Amino acid sequence: MDKVVNGVREAFQSGRSRSLQYRKQQLRALYKLITERQADIADALKQDINRSMFDSTLFEFIGLENDIKLAESHLDDWAAPQPVRKNLGNAFDDVYIKPEPFGVVLIIGAWNYPWALTLQPLVGAIAAGNAAVVKPSELSEHSARLMNELLPQYLDKEMYRVVTGGAPETQELLKERFDHIFYTGNSTVGKLVMEAATRHLTPVILELGGKSPCYIDKNCDIAVACRRITWGKFMNSGQSCIAPDYILCEPSIQDRIIEEIRNTLREFYREDAKNSPDYCRIINTHHFDRVMALMEGCTIAFGGENDRSQCYIAPTVLRDVLPHYRIMQEEIFGPVLPIITVNDLSEAINFINKKEKPLALYVFSSDKKVIKRMLTETSSGGVAVNDVMIHYTVNSLPFGGVGNSGMGRYHGRHTFDQLSHHRACVIKSFALEGFNDARYPPLTAARLGRAKLALQNRLCSCSAMCVWAVISTMVAIGLLVALLVVLL
Ligand code: NAD
Repeated sequence: MDKVVNGVREAFQSGRSRSLQYRKQQLRALYKLITERQADIADALKQDINRSMFDSTLFEFIGLENDIKLAESHLDDWAAPQPVRKNLGNAFDDVYIKPEPFGVVLIIGAWNYPWALTLQPLVGAIAAGNAAVVKPSELSEHSARLMNELLPQYLDKEMYRVVTGGAPETQELLKERFDHIFYTGNSTVGKLVMEAATRHLTPVILELGGKSPCYIDKNCDIAVACRRITWGKFMNSGQSCIAPDYILCEPSIQDRIIEEIRNTLREFYREDAKNSPDYCRIINTHHFDRVMALMEGCTIAFGGENDRSQCYIAPTVLRDVLPHYRIMQEEIFGPVLPIITVNDLSEAINFINKKEKPLALYVFSSDKKVIKRMLTETSSGGVAVNDVMIHYTVNSLPFGGVGNSGMGRYHGRHTFDQLSHHRACVIKSFALEGFNDARYPPLTAARLGRAKLALQNRLCSCSAMCVWAVISTMVAIGLLVALLVVLL
């Protein structure tokens, strides 16, 4: 591994990724890869998870293409020095923030959206001028193999390297020194990644998961709510980090919710989801067994059919689930949707707040007060009202978790910002040394007073112009007075 990382570091140290032209050219090459090889990628996804071309386009390609186009077209602006407000003491200096690359970034991806979750961070890494080592998940093995084959064909293969393998290879990689680590996956491994990063004081972005709650208020359009929830929960067979994990609702609407979800599923996947080209499979038998075991002891409202040989679990809804059930102790990450009944909104909020902060939170209601309370009295990485998952698609919004669901954020400009070091820069000239007297010994009360003034007053760049104008005017008046004294 050290050979790989050293090679990538050498490429970074060549300095070529500092050029914005180079970065744009690499972004265009990545765009070309995604568009030119879309059929091959979709084929790999079909083999990995039985994903349809339609869903692959919707959940992998569009977001990636948008992020690449956005980065390419805004790079000059994003990478430019950003002037900031100044103190009086540096009113005549250049004071700005300059985004600069960290160096070598390690990107560790997860299997559920293997292209978007691995290459979207890479878009930001390239845009910010970093080199990168990319470690796709071994569980989506066809995608990992294809990524390993394609990336060197399109990108600078010395600057951006793919490393394939599983936990042992990732552990080996984590022994190396990186300048930033971007990890997507479960919280348990997230902690291992963070622990490894502390050895070199490497900053980390952890995109983790958790149980994302979905509260349905009785005062809402339940049919529309269930249609949207069904789409978000059962796409990718429930293997989405921001899929609604469970429903909270009052007992009076539980039956109606079950009926609406059942009807929507019939519409989406027909009578038998197993034969639907749009319904995915569980990634492997390990996760199949895990999801099946979570259902033990629960009351199935409908669904539950399964076929281990195909890693198929039918869309399933569980009713009257109690908080202490096993299914409520961990993220489900499968096509099983438990319903927990609560007496009112306050109980729902308490329920959510007793658990770890989730990656996403959903609330369906027509009542503004309900929405307001849910937003102000809970916390989560992101939130959507009267819909699920769509906040992920708005790349001007930061995407990421809070607390146990992660740290750091990405998408659009946020990826560039997170993978850039924001260097504080003050550029002075040798002139106006008199202004600096206040800070030099011998220290006096008068000097301290002037130093305080210089440090306290905050100026924006236009205020600096005003100061300059005032001083110029005073100097001009002084000269005029001196001239008059001489003449008279
Ligand atoms: P995974 O098994 O693919 O693991 C993720 C990465 O960690 C892989 O590259 C894998 O090789 C590596 N890894 C696994 N075990 C390791 C170990 N012991 N040491 C070092 N590296 C190791 O994916 P997963 O963790 O099963 O992914 C599902 C989880 O990820 C869910 O919790 C989901 O919510 C979360 N997730 C979060 C996001 C997000 O954007 N926040 C997106 C997708 C998935």
